[in-house]
Amino acid sequence: MRVLRGSLRSHFRAKRAQGKLPLPAALGNGVNSVNKGSCHCGSVSFQVDKPLAKVYKCYCETCRKLSGSAFSVVTKVRKSDFNIIRGQDLLHVYESKPGKNRYYCKKCCSPIFVTVEDQPEYLRVRLGVLDGEPKVEIAGHIWLSEKPEWQEISDSLPKFSGWSA
Ligand SMILES: [Zn+2]
Ligand SMILES: [Zn+2]
Repeated sequence: MRVLRGSLRSHFRAKRAQGKLPLPAALGNGVNSVNKGSCHCGSVSFQVDKPLAKVYKCYCETCRKLSGSAFSVVTKVRKSDFNIIRGQDLLHVYESKPGKNRYYCKKCCSPIFVTVEDQPEYLRVRLGVLDGEPKVEIAGHIWLSEKPEWQEISDSLPKFSGWSA
């Protein structure tokens, strides 16, 4: 993970001021090649430099407890494609289980990303913190073994009782 600082950041700011910052390019497969995200209070923002990989809806108990909702919508991102643009010093980390670290905005508690020790080259991002309307395809539902009955699934996407594979 790189942190955009100093000259690069002011470069982007200057470009934006001139109205010359290019819009995220769309690839042939119809997904955004660049996705930006931010927390609710706006203190933390980040950018994913590649199209998003497979996106899953996860119903595990941890996702439910930490989101307060029926599921979280997550995707894996290479650390080298993930850049914190603003608010690196405002990240608060919570280790939800040994080796799994969840980073939140210290001010508003939005979930920014998750790291897992045994997959050091990746981190996970929840789609709800992405800005705008990212073009994504949901690959399926995971951890249905922990899905609450009050949450119904009405689509025909692949369903897995635990991880997808
Ligand atoms: Zn925030
Ligand atoms: Zn989960």
